[in-house]
Amino acid sequence: MRRLLCLSFIFWGCGGDPISSLPPCPDCTALVGGKIFDGTTTKPALVLLSGNTIQAVVEEEVPPDVGTIVDLSGQTLLPGFFDLHVHVYTPPTEDGFTPPANLARLQLQAFLRNGVTGIGDLGSPSEGIFPDRAESQRNLIFPRIWAAGPMLTAEGGHPCGQEALPVCQPVRGIADAEQAVQAIEAEQPDFYKLIIEPGWRSPLPTVDADTVMAIYSAATTRNRPLWAHVTRASDLDLALDVGVRRLAHLPFRDLLSEAQALRLAQTNTVVVPTIGYLDALDRLGRGELTELDDPLVAKDVHPRVRADLQDPARIARYLDPVTKTAVAEVLSNVRQNLSLLVLNKVSIVAGTDAGNVANFHGVSLRRELALYVEAGLTPAEALKSATAEPARLLGRPDLGNIVPTATADLVAVEGDPLLDLSALGRVTHVWKGGAEVDRASLAASP
Ligand SMILES: [Zn+2]
Repeated sequence: MRRLLCLSFIFWGCGGDPISSLPPCPDCTALVGGKIFDGTTTKPALVLLSGNTIQAVVEEEVPPDVGTIVDLSGQTLLPGFFDLHVHVYTPPTEDGFTPPANLARLQLQAFLRNGVTGIGDLGSPSEGIFPDRAESQRNLIFPRIWAAGPMLTAEGGHPCGQEALPVCQPVRGIADAEQAVQAIEAEQPDFYKLIIEPGWRSPLPTVDADTVMAIYSAATTRNRPLWAHVTRASDLDLALDVGVRRLAHLPFRDLLSEAQALRLAQTNTVVVPTIGYLDALDRLGRGELTELDDPLVAKDVHPRVRADLQDPARIARYLDPVTKTAVAEVLSNVRQNLSLLVLNKVSIVAGTDAGNVANFHGVSLRRELALYVEAGLTPAEALKSATAEPARLLGRPDLGNIVPTATADLVAVEGDPLLDLSALGRVTHVWKGGAEVDRASLAASP
């Protein structure tokens, strides 16, 4: 580590070694020698952790007298990331895959290993995700969890169709709205999620405007936000008309108008793009899902999931020219829609829809952020969309920023992501609540 030239008596004893301006703290950890992302830029700083919080962020380079010193030379420290659209209980591969019994746990571990210290689950069975949420408050294995429980959707609607799956809570019309919401309320969800769409491949029943209104009112009466899943421009209008201000997807089936983008900005609506999902399907079809060959990624994607996605028979649907053309079209739509939102300064919060085909838990966030930059966000804005912005949305101002008194959820990466976003794939350390996570022990495979 470099030493400061002696410019001030503050940093020097009487003719002895340089001393720190920070008081001795035997129980503290000092993260030294690296840069921090402060929400705008990256700059050299020393970060002192005490208990579960950040005690000090100082520019000096003299290590204080503390219990533990972590050398972050050549690295950048960022607030722990959030991914606000995930499905913990879904394997990221084709239908018909029988997941290993512990897959959901491994997928939670993959988030934390990759520095995603907070997730918003927008559709998982209650009996899995709510106990996980409770457990996440006590362990260093899972990220912090905010969860909707099962998705509210029309009876027979997307994504469950006629199957009675625990990931869907059917709403049998307006008269059933109150009861459907109440069925999840017992678990104290952090928000609700409503599907407003007729399915992608075949038209399925969807909720009508009155039912959307009734669900919105049932959720807000209980002081819980409502996330709307919309994929068509017309459904975006429907959601905004009833008062929804959180969109779990950026519509991709058609193009948004300038007026719609303006309306999103004026209503302070938060949009989670989930653009990486379509990008991954596009690359899968073109044989360019290169992360499957990356030994670092292999640690976070279960070997059976990787094998499934490398079996041409299992992914035949995505290799089909008709599907490839359809995927390329919706990817083009969502890219254009995201650029329009960026131009109109719409609030973007990062979310990947991890758990969909080829969309890997923890791993996919960095590609998602790179696509935001391609659509016009600066690298710093993209990083904020996964740190300070989601923390604010979740009502946790103590997270998402590297400042004194903040809760110490942190991730260190090799390099500087503002100069090269691929640094996000080179995670070296993760802290949750001030304690360092044992990343090696959380890998899905050696
Ligand atoms: Zn989803």
